[in-house]
Amino acid sequence: MPRSLSTSLRAHAWQVSLGRLLLLLLIALVFGLVVGQVLICFLVALAAYGLWMLWSLAQLQRWLGSRTREAPPFEQGVWSEIASFIQSRHQSMRQRQRRLVRLLRAYRSAATALPDGIIVLSPLQQVVWANPAAEGLLGFRLSKARGQPVLNLLTEPVMREWLLGQPQQEPLIDVQTAADRDKRLSMRLVPYQDDHAMLIVRDISLLMKLEQVRRDFVANVSHELRTPLTVIHGYLDMIETDEHPSIATMIEEMHRQSKRMAQVVEDLLTLSRLDATEAAGDEPVSMTAMMATLKREAEALSKGQHQIQVDNLCQADLHGSMKDLHSAFSNLIANAVRYTPTGGSITVRWQLKDQGACFSVQDTGFGIPAEHIPRLTERFYRVSTSRSREKGGTGLGLSIVKHVLNLHQAKLNIESQVGVGSMFSCCFPAERLRPRD
Ligand code: ADP
Repeated sequence: MPRSLSTSLRAHAWQVSLGRLLLLLLIALVFGLVVGQVLICFLVALAAYGLWMLWSLAQLQRWLGSRTREAPPFEQGVWSEIASFIQSRHQSMRQRQRRLVRLLRAYRSAATALPDGIIVLSPLQQVVWANPAAEGLLGFRLSKARGQPVLNLLTEPVMREWLLGQPQQEPLIDVQTAADRDKRLSMRLVPYQDDHAMLIVRDISLLMKLEQVRRDFVANVSHELRTPLTVIHGYLDMIETDEHPSIATMIEEMHRQSKRMAQVVEDLLTLSRLDATEAAGDEPVSMTAMMATLKREAEALSKGQHQIQVDNLCQADLHGSMKDLHSAFSNLIANAVRYTPTGGSITVRWQLKDQGACFSVQDTGFGIPAEHIPRLTERFYRVSTSRSREKGGTGLGLSIVKHVLNLHQAKLNIESQVGVGSMFSCCFPAERLRPRD
């Protein structure tokens, strides 16, 4: 109904009611004058009007009690106006309710059809609802699990640990369940509205298989390239450049390039091996011996072009894989030598820090612009490709460092300023330290 029309009808209803009251009072006045009891007739008329109002109220209450499906019991006037107003509000509310139910059903069927498992959790982490995919992936029945703590559904200790930890920030990747040992799953907890949360379980078996194919491919290609490269290298070594001065520069360049290729292959093989390793070894790693070896290697690489200082300030050793740790530390030193111009200085330190200990390599080299720092550990990522190639880099060094540190639960921190220098620190937790013998 247009707003102006409904307003005029409402005004009309009031006029009708007021008219009725005035008519009643007029009749009471005339009757009072006739019988000589104006006041009494007036009071009787007002009492009758009041009673009629009460009766109308009772009618309205009865009609409301009938859930307003019947027609309103008033013909016209204010009561009829109030009743039709309530009725129209009621109708629009019912329509809105129906729309909401339809929407809810549509969402539910969309969630039911999703191939990813969804479990809706209450603030107390109890199961409120789950879709069939979640039932299939985790092997439970919603009818039995509803209202139970979600922890009861997670049979694997690694899943329970993750859920009890801080899963909101980090998804859990590559877990298996007793329900289907062939399936590899990932889990993510998505909090929403007032402490509610959704546990999303995804089948990543295919993704993991593809990842394995990629890893195998890189490992196989690297392996296949290794032997021919060794042969080429061997023959190049046998050619006496003094006897063939015309091709001497060519041979030297071939030598340099084949060496670089061999280094890329070796680094790729190291990465493949680290990729396939699930946990670092547990052998004692003497940091005194390690620092002495690194010092010798740094001096050999630098060929006297830098001032090299090695400080062993910590009385603790490490436990882990000696070979991998050496590979990570020497990569950082090789980078410092590579990216620090002649005359610069390099400081290597092993020291206690924040309840653990850090191995750091600081240089006064070119430095790295801040926007490159987060991507440095990606494979083949270089700040300057030409500079890296010219200096003999493969673009894989920091990737190896990151993998080795991950296996030892350590973190790589990079601080750098262009034109001032860089500091790469490998920080190990207390659990990785052991007292020096
Ligand atoms: P590369 O074999 O090219 O050195 P890395 O993975 O070891 O590959 O390093 C990635 C890139 O990070 C390098 O190409 C270089 O641009 C930059 N970088 C690494 N270490 C340093 C350093 N100490 N000083 C300046 N830049 C560095």
